[in-house]
Amino acid sequence: MQVDAAFDCMKHAYESGRMPGGLIITGDIRGDAAELATRILQMLYCQEPQAPCRACAGCLRVRDQTAYDVVWIVPEKKSRQISIDQMRDRLLAVIGQTSFEGGWKAGVIVGADRMSPSASNAFLKTLEEPPPQTLFLLLTDSPQNLLPTILSRCQRLDVDHDVHTLNAVWRSELLQILAAPLPPGPISALATSAQIGALLATMKEEAETQVKAEAKNEVDVDASGDVMSARISARYREQRLALLIALQDWYRDLLVIRSGGAADLLHYPEQQETLRMRAAGLTGGQALANVAAIDGIQRQLERNLSEDYVLAYWMDRIVTGVQAERRV
Ligand SMILES: [Zn+2]
Repeated sequence: MQVDAAFDCMKHAYESGRMPGGLIITGDIRGDAAELATRILQMLYCQEPQAPCRACAGCLRVRDQTAYDVVWIVPEKKSRQISIDQMRDRLLAVIGQTSFEGGWKAGVIVGADRMSPSASNAFLKTLEEPPPQTLFLLLTDSPQNLLPTILSRCQRLDVDHDVHTLNAVWRSELLQILAAPLPPGPISALATSAQIGALLATMKEEAETQVKAEAKNEVDVDASGDVMSARISARYREQRLALLIALQDWYRDLLVIRSGGAADLLHYPEQQETLRMRAAGLTGGQALANVAAIDGIQRQLERNLSEDYVLAYWMDRIVTGVQAERRV
């Protein structure tokens, strides 16, 4: 999604009094994601009627990161982590105080996937019961590394580059696999992982075709050499990651429905009917575990374990909720 479109979503939520307490912004944490965070905050602190004007004192303080009621934290240089001290003494301390200007208080966590486990847990406690008029913005380029419990409590906007977005053809093939009526039990898991495996095989072929076509215009590339196979492999990995993110979005939608979230938070609103039937067959714990299972797939694929094995192993652990669909 472009920054403008993402901002419009939040402006709409703000104007209709439905600002989320936590918002995950996925994208370049020093680029688009930071830009979107700044604009959302300017909307809250702007002193002009046409907020954000981006020129008044309120807007400028947000831009310069000197607004009294907004705390930005970034990973520490040495550890490359967000420490518990930063979380507790800087961010949560300010959030706990009364707002200086009598309005919103905001915490921006840049590189939220880099929170240490103790920082994550401290943050989670506040996220579960935030003070009124509090907004947390979590900027990350690796949302899959956030705790599922944090993911499930936040709304999410992606201002990723296209590389993490599945193209429309594959998206619809994936949805066909996920939304297809399936028999309950182990057969359905096996069928799903086989179908996803087949989709990945097609992606692999297409990555090869694309990369070879692009290289035709270069004079000094040996089409059979190591350079080419490295490029093909890199392209395929990008696309496989996009597929896994889209796959996880399905289970995240089930979790959103299971936890009573609003329909406009869904990644696949057009599949709402199927999603609702399946969510009815899941406990909250199962819905959460499903989201985590896709993280498991991604982690193990990064370690170069066999795709077939990894998919079969994790898909077998996913509770589809299909049982309930059959009963309906
Ligand atoms: Zn302004």
